[in-house]
Amino acid sequence: MICPSCGNISEQDDKFCSRCGLFVTAQTQKLFSSVSTFSWIMRRALGGMFAGVIGWILSIALSRTIGTSSSMTVHLIVGGAIGGAFLGNVGGIIEHSSYKALLGGILGCIGGILGGLINRPIYDYFSAHSLAYSISHSFSWAVAGLFIGATSGLIEKNKKKIMVGVIAGFIGGAIGGGLGSGLYVSLLIDVNRPGWITSRFIEALAGAVVGMNLWFILGLVEKLYIFNRKQLLDATEKICDFCNTHNSLRAWYCKNCGKTLLVSAPVEKLKITPYRSLERISNAFKFISWLSAVAGVVLVLIIFIFLLFKNPFFAVFVSVALAIVIYMISVLLNGVSEVFTKFIKIREAE
Ligand SMILES: [Zn+2]
Ligand SMILES: [Zn+2]
Repeated sequence: MICPSCGNISEQDDKFCSRCGLFVTAQTQKLFSSVSTFSWIMRRALGGMFAGVIGWILSIALSRTIGTSSSMTVHLIVGGAIGGAFLGNVGGIIEHSSYKALLGGILGCIGGILGGLINRPIYDYFSAHSLAYSISHSFSWAVAGLFIGATSGLIEKNKKKIMVGVIAGFIGGAIGGGLGSGLYVSLLIDVNRPGWITSRFIEALAGAVVGMNLWFILGLVEKLYIFNRKQLLDATEKICDFCNTHNSLRAWYCKNCGKTLLVSAPVEKLKITPYRSLERISNAFKFISWLSAVAGVVLVLIIFIFLLFKNPFFAVFVSVALAIVIYMISVLLNGVSEVFTKFIKIREAE
């Protein structure tokens, strides 16, 4: 068992923690696991918030680049595609899985485009209503959330988990879309002629609200249902339910058939660093490093297409220069993450 007070790992039948003297009972264990469940969900919400901030600033910048010559629906589709792609990335980036990040990003992009397509018709239908703008965006992001919610279930090839994820994504997207767009409009009305920084801040806030709500609901359902695993108590390895291959306790997927391992190792058996906060900080930097790389690719593409029609040579030059800068930023952030990881390892070896 893990002591909820100091994190010390004690034997299964110990009554008191040998490090800090706190009694360790089933109740204190429950408290410990519910706190860690909550922080697991909050990490997803936080990831959604970061992705929303970057996705919204980028998509609104692109919208401005397209200009007023294009129809409202084109703007909504572009915004949906970029915002959806960023929000879809979150789960995969947190789990350090490029495959999942890509799948989620593509699903989010498709959902965002569909959401953008239905936005105007819904707005027109509710146009007499004072909340028409929030209602239409609520539906748009519900559709994007629906696609994003399918990601984890699709990877496990489990229909029931896909359905549950889809419903959670729909609800989370609807809440986030409604609140985020409502906040956006009311801030634009309240703040008289906002300056450059204030405008970006309002956009970022809208994206943050959408991403945070979507990933809070989705994270809640993923943690409590989709990723719910049977806990192994005295196992030294994980045996695959589908092909009976023996996998290590650290494995999440079967090395033989690639299916998800439906059991989880007891926490005491895994080698956990006592420097958990450092590990969190390291993971946060890794997350931002990935996110900045994804954002960078999108940004370079946008700028390249935009400049291509004006001056092809200049377009290539600026895009390459920008790509190098973004690559450097991403490597730097990843480096910061590695410094923390190294520090954790050095301390462990002592
Ligand atoms: Zn203790
Ligand atoms: Zn297997």
